[in-house]
This record gives sequence, C-alpha cells and structure tokens, in this order.
Amino acid sequence: MFEGLTALPADPILGLSAAYKADTNPNKVDLGVGVYKDEQGNTPVLRAVKQAEQAYFNTENTKVYIGPPGSAAANTLLQNLIFGADHAAIKANRVRTIQTPGGCGSLRDAAELIKKANPSATVWVSDPTWANHIPLLGNAGLAIKTYPYYDHASKSVNFDAMMETLSKVGKGDLVLLHGCCHNPCGADLNQTQWQAVAQLALKNGFTPFIDMAYQGFGEGLEQDAYGVRLMANTVPELIVSSSCSKNFGLYRERAGALSIVYASAADADKGQSNLFSVVRGMYSMPPNHGSAIVETILGSATLTAEWHQELAEMRDRIKALRALLNKKLIEKGAPGDFNFIEQQSGMFSFLGINKAQVQSLVQDYSIYLVDSSRINIAGISLTNVDYLAESIVAVLK
Ligand code: PMP
Repeated sequence: MFEGLTALPADPILGLSAAYKADTNPNKVDLGVGVYKDEQGNTPVLRAVKQAEQAYFNTENTKVYIGPPGSAAANTLLQNLIFGADHAAIKANRVRTIQTPGGCGSLRDAAELIKKANPSATVWVSDPTWANHIPLLGNAGLAIKTYPYYDHASKSVNFDAMMETLSKVGKGDLVLLHGCCHNPCGADLNQTQWQAVAQLALKNGFTPFIDMAYQGFGEGLEQDAYGVRLMANTVPELIVSSSCSKNFGLYRERAGALSIVYASAADADKGQSNLFSVVRGMYSMPPNHGSAIVETILGSATLTAEWHQELAEMRDRIKALRALLNKKLIEKGAPGDFNFIEQQSGMFSFLGINKAQVQSLVQDYSIYLVDSSRINIAGISLTNVDYLAESIVAVLK
C-alpha cells in the first residue's frame, strides 16, 4: 500500500530549528519559527492563561462532547473581540462564529464551505503570503491565484498593482487579506487602502476573506481589527479566520474561530448548518481546552485586564525591538535604509538580503533565518541585537 509513496522533503523551517538546536555557538540567534519569544528566548504560558486554567480545573465538571461549533459562549466572546459587540452586522443577526482547531482549522473549514457553495471559486492570495495558505485552501480543491502585494524594492505594499489585479476579480471569487501584521512581509494596508479594497469588493462583488492570526500584536486589539470591521460594514458577505495561538499564547492547544458575515439571517442559518456538516466530516468537533481558557479569560473582567496587559507587553516589546534593530544597523554603518523594519508591524519583516547573504548569516554567524530573509522580530533581544546588527552589516559588505 505505502510502498509507492515518495518521501517528501522536510519543512525547511523545522530543519532550521533542528540546526539551531544542534549549534554550539554561544552567540547563536534564532529568527526562524514564528512564535513570540521573551527577552530570554522563551515562549511562556501567559499569566492570565495560568490563572484561567486553574479556575477552569476547579470548576470543570464534565468531559462530554461539545458539538461541531464548540462553546456558544466562547464563540460570542470571540466574535465580540473581532467585530466589536455593537457591530451592525452582529445586531442584524448576520454573523455566525464557530470554534475551530486554531487558525489553520478555521482556514480549512472555510475552504470546505466555499467549495460546497461554489466549487469553481478561485481564492486570490497576496504575493507573498503565509506558505501554509496554499495547502490549507488548495487541498480543499479550491483554485488559487496570486495578486501583487509586497514590493521588495520599496519595502512596502505595491497598492496600485494590487488594485489593478483585484479590479479584474468578480463575484464568486474570494480575496484573502491579512487582517494585520502580514506574514511574512510585515507591511499592512493603511486605513485608506482598506477603504479602497472594501469599495472594490462592493463594486465587483468578490468576497473578502480575512485571515487575522495576530489581533493585538500590531497596534492594539481595536486598531488591528479596523479592516475586518470596516469590511463587515461595507460588503454583504465576509469570511474571517482568527487564531488564539499568538495573542493568547495558546499555540498547541489549537484554539481559533471562523466567523462568517452572511447577506441575511436566513443565509446565516443555512451556512451554519453546512459548516456543521463540514466539521462533522473532518474532525467532528473542535478541541475544548484552549477555547475554554479563552472563554474563562474573556468572561472575567480581572483576567481580561491581565491579558490586555500581557498582550501590550508582547506588542511593545516587538515594537521596541523593531526600533532598536534599525538604530543598531544605522550605528554600525549598514549600507542602505532599514527604517522599514521600524515602520512595519507584527512579528515579521524581510531583511531584504539575498540568499547567499542569508546562507552566510546561518553558516558563518549562527543566525538562523529562512531563505526568503524573513525574520521573527521576537527572536531579537537586548543581548543579541549588537551581534545581529554587526553580522548583518558584515554579510552586506
Ligand atoms: N495565518 C497566519 C498568517 C499565520 O501566521 C498563522 C500561524 N503561523 C495561522 C494563520 C494559523 O495559526 P494556528 O493554526 O497555529 O492558530
């Protein structure tokens, strides 16, 4: 049966992690895998999560099945976090949210629902986009095409080229947008650009599909939801995949949500029943623990305040590191302008160096990053930033 399979190459990012672990250089720096890290290089369990887990442990009284949509209370709390409790689409009873196994589960559930609704739909993704978007959506059988997004020369969004391509996308197709903190490029749409894309979606009839994996990591919980909320106010239909992996630090617990804004409450009920059937056919129901922790935190004013504080700590640290790396590169005489690192948002940016320079950073300096030159800003620390900046300058000269 399995003899005929051909072995596939290992994920390059996992190979990079293994090489980092095996490296004995005391100065080694890991800028590879996309998880938040503190000054010591750890990804600790958040304080609010620990407290919520304790409270949940003391009160949990059953392990009985939870059903395909997960906890209704958790879904409402997350929906309010994403759209704002007073959003007109929520008031009109046009929004439905289900709990999913992380952001990935949400993206895949959405893809399966799209496939049911319109088997010939094409999803337009940004060039570049998060690599896993392709299998998550494509393996459901959807066609995928790309629209221009990041301009490597100007280190910013090539908005004219993006709009030019999207102007040809019409009804029945979808445009995948990163809600905030674009992975991998760190360049986000500004508010005027969001407005223009929303108007184009309204005019042409394509369905926006927003992946929001980093709410709270950019400018703040409310600010980062600007695009989602505007879009939900503008177009009749919208898909939002969200994740609690980064902002709640719940990575391995697999907590996320899929929210869909439908054109009417009647469509919402139909869509929801189809989504339940999608979920049943793939994993029956989502895992409970991560979502129960989110529900416990968002259901408690004290724990929510603690979580807001921790989220701000993570966000402020990333912002400070962006500014610090730029400053150190200037101080050490780096050729070129790295101000874009400070301007961009979230955990990622492309350094903008070539493959040979990346290879030199890895092999000669034990600084681990992927070939595209994407760096995880959270892997920088006050201790390693000088060495990092000096090494970048060295490979650039
Ligand atoms: N979308 C993007 C853009 C991401 O970067 C990630 C996590 N790396 C996800 C979705 C999904 O994350 P998870 O399934 O771990 O919640």
